[in-house]
Order: sequence, then structure tokens, then C-alpha cells
Amino acid sequence: MIPPPSSFLFQFLLLFPLILSHSDSDSGHPVLPRPLIVEYPEFDAVLRCGAWRVAGEANNLGAWAIIPEECAEYVKDYMSGKGYALDLEMVSKEAEEYARTVPLGYDGKDAWVFDIDETLLSNLPYYAAHGYGLEVFDHEKFNDWVEKGVATAIEPSLKLYEDVLNLGFKVILLTGRNERHRSVTVDNLINAGFKDWDQLILRTSDDQGKPAVLYKSEKRGEMEKDGYRILGNSGDQWSDLLGSSISVRSFKLPNPVYYIP
Ligand SMILES: [Mg+2]
Repeated sequence: MIPPPSSFLFQFLLLFPLILSHSDSDSGHPVLPRPLIVEYPEFDAVLRCGAWRVAGEANNLGAWAIIPEECAEYVKDYMSGKGYALDLEMVSKEAEEYARTVPLGYDGKDAWVFDIDETLLSNLPYYAAHGYGLEVFDHEKFNDWVEKGVATAIEPSLKLYEDVLNLGFKVILLTGRNERHRSVTVDNLINAGFKDWDQLILRTSDDQGKPAVLYKSEKRGEMEKDGYRILGNSGDQWSDLLGSSISVRSFKLPNPVYYIP
């Protein structure tokens, strides 16, 4: 609990004579008495968790399975408050600006790659029910959620999606979801407002067990072999964006809830 400002003032007035009377015996400099050094561990946690989140977004963290325990409230507040929404808008706006200015070939080979989960579709209700990353990822439970097909559009991404289509890009969806979820994924995407994609690539049995960064690099390599120029790539994981056959520009959407290598 943060004391009201009047309490600070009261404490200061109470201790003011002590400040004046206290001095370092060696230097003669006044020494602040201990009670004036007020520490708020919860503020420190917010700063530490902010530093942790930025380190994650900048790809400076090693692999992690769950969020730091002390950051549970911080991540929940960020995801359910304005911070996440504003960060998503910022990424979409910058990507759109780039999409409008990058020279296109207009030969049907200008490609923009989108990841799906936490890029086009939001699974926030699922993660809200599972501690916003505080629980170890459970594939079975998550698949049950996917099969409901009720994920909503990430609105700034839907806007970018429509903008790049209108500009003449071919949209390729590249997801870590399993091929067996194709039908529910297509229905979910359409219900959320996404349409007219060129390809939807899901993991087949050949792709099982591959790290996402390898699987997605291989798929981008195939796009290049098919003559596509990958000019833009949007994903919430660095493994959506790094590896080989990297896009001319990559746009990292925020996601402090989970990490996929
Ligand atoms: Mg994703």
C-alpha cells in the first residue's frame, strides 16, 4: 500500500530536525537518518519485470518455460491493460508504413508472412485462465482451446492484414498449429475477419519435433523456391522471424506470456 502524499509530508516534518542535527563525524556532511529511505518492493518488482519484458522482446533472454513468479501481476496488468494494446498498435502502424513504401514487383510474388497465434488471433482468454504464462504450457489443454475455434482477431493485425492485401501483397500464413487443426483454424480465421490468404501452412507429420525456428525457416525457403519475395513477416516469437530465408523486414509483436524456441 502506498502511503498518501500527506503521510510523506508528515514524516518529513517529523524528521526534519533530525536531518539538521545528524552529521557524518568524519566529513561533517549531514547524514539522512534511516527512516527517510523509503523502499517499496512492489515498485522494484514492476521495474524488474519491465526490464525482463524488454529483454524478452529484444531477444536477449535465454529460453524460458514460465514467466518469473514475481512478474505474475505485472504480466497480467500488461496483457489486460493498455500496454499490450498500444504495443500491438505500434507494431502494426510501423509495419503498415513499411508496406506502403517498399517497392513491389506486382507479379504475384510479393509476399507477407503472418504467424497466427498471438499475431493474427488472440488466445488471451486461454492464457487468462492459465495464469498468463505462470503455468507450464500444456499442449493438450491448449489444443482443446484451439478446437473450440473461438480465438478473436488482434485488431491492429487485422488492419495490417487488410492493408497489405489491398497493397497487392500475397499473404502466407505460417503457423506452428498442426495440420489436423486446418479446418478449425480456417473457420476461426474467417469468423475473426481474415480472408483471401494465398497459403495456409501448418505442421505436417514431417515437421513434428522440429524447433519452430527450423520449421519456419524451411517453409520460408520453400516459398523462395516458389519465387516469392518475402518482404514482410509478422510474428510474436523470434522463432517466427529468425533462422534462414529471413524476410526483408520482420515485425515482432509483443508477447511476454510464452516463449517458443
Ligand atoms: Mg505466435
